[in-house]
Amino acid sequence: MLLSLLLSLVSGCEKTAVPYVKTSFALDTVVQVTVYDKKDEAAALKALDYCRTAEKTFSMTDPESELYRLNASSGMPVQVSDELYALLENCLNFSELSDGAFDITLGALSSVYAFSGSVHRIPDEQERAGLLSRAGADKISLGAENAVFASSGTVIDLGAAAKGYIADRMKELLISEDVRHAIINLGGNVLSIGGKPAGKASVPFEAGIAVPVPGRSNEVLLTVSLTDDSLVTSGTYQRYFEQDGIRYHHILDPKTGLPAENGLASVSVCCRQSESADILSTACFVLGEEKSAELIAKLDFPVEVIFVNDQLEITRIHN
Ligand code: ADP
Ligand code: MG
Repeated sequence: MLLSLLLSLVSGCEKTAVPYVKTSFALDTVVQVTVYDKKDEAAALKALDYCRTAEKTFSMTDPESELYRLNASSGMPVQVSDELYALLENCLNFSELSDGAFDITLGALSSVYAFSGSVHRIPDEQERAGLLSRAGADKISLGAENAVFASSGTVIDLGAAAKGYIADRMKELLISEDVRHAIINLGGNVLSIGGKPAGKASVPFEAGIAVPVPGRSNEVLLTVSLTDDSLVTSGTYQRYFEQDGIRYHHILDPKTGLPAENGLASVSVCCRQSESADILSTACFVLGEEKSAELIAKLDFPVEVIFVNDQLEITRIHN
């Protein structure tokens, strides 16, 4: 009996192996790397460094970023990095797959609403029509040798995809530094490496989906098990402003130029790549349940989508 008690104590100690956590602020959000299996912090610091460097590629608002330079190109072709080219290519691909619901050319429109700023403005129908005429995947074309052409007046906004892309690169970086059990969290955009160590084995990480209600988002509505997968949520409860009793949230319907309105409060996507999860959470939010099912049926990798509506009812679909 004493032996079994000792054994359970030993395994108990292993179970509580304390991870280390490194946090920084980047990409307009809190970035956190939690490593369970390596004492050396250098790997996590490298991943956080990469995250800050990537901001210089993908930021729409930083005048020193590569994307800013592309957006200022006034219709002239620009040669971009492999990273920016690859992300643009995938975004355009999802734009087509989602029938335009996912649209990275809404930058001029989202800048008017200024969801992340302090002075908000709601464009009227005429202004929205003008801004939407500068949007659409057909306003960007990709050429040989990383040449990108964006029509004059079109503003590319990678806010719905860049965090996922960056999380995937951070994961690769950590794995190349021999990390095998970790969680990367870019402001709720979660990506796991392996599972959580438990004794000699490991168990899935449990990632929470928040109650999608302003002021209640620190409550967990449901949890999802992750082993090597990513979970990304898009919702109406984090980036928004209110005017005349109406909540204007930051996920825009490219058909109307208004915040997407279909009774949903949040959409979470779980799949292997964080880039896909990020893009799909936004696309499926705009599309709603039925059309999202059609979209994920076209994909050649496993995806689960979790919809939470305004009544906090949960619907889960997968392909
Ligand atoms: P978060 O910024 O919280 O990660 P999302 O991934 O859903 O949320 O991205 C929303 C952001 O993407 C918006 O702030 C805006 O910059 C941009 N965006 C808004 N509507 C769309 C859309 N229909 N397609 C692509 N990007 C969009
Ligand atoms: Mg997204």
